[in-house]
Amino acid sequence: MAYDNDNIFAKILRGEIPCNKVYEDEFALAFHDINPQAPTHVLVIPKGKYVSMADFTAEAPDALIVGFMRAVGLVAAMLELETPGYRVLANAGEDAHQEVPHLHIHIFGGKKLGPMLTHS
Ligand code: AMP
Repeated sequence: MAYDNDNIFAKILRGEIPCNKVYEDEFALAFHDINPQAPTHVLVIPKGKYVSMADFTAEAPDALIVGFMRAVGLVAAMLELETPGYRVLANAGEDAHQEVPHLHIHIFGGKKLGPMLTHS
């Protein structure tokens, strides 16, 4: 899937629309989800034009992959979620209901999160 430069997270990265920032470094930007699904719901996105985890891990330079994954862990720690726990999730494609076609990792926490998938 070709990267869409007009997706909403591309606009956030370019500073064209605001976000409620949690963390930023040269590799990643983390911000609160606009429609939180848990008391803590933060998105972490890489600074680069990648649609999905498969796209990112195939195409991104090693330093960006390492830096991005470090940022995900750092943000979880910053949010003090290591204890009592948290969930990370990345949707890719139609079956996973990916809404924004720029790779993003959701970090959920702040309540008991229940089973991994709902059955419907
Ligand atoms: P996904 O379904 O995995 O693509 O998730 C996209 C997420 O982006 C949803 O949880 C949305 O609530 C969130 N979202 C969409 N627009 C914004 C925005 N402008 N700022 C923060 N989060 C957003």
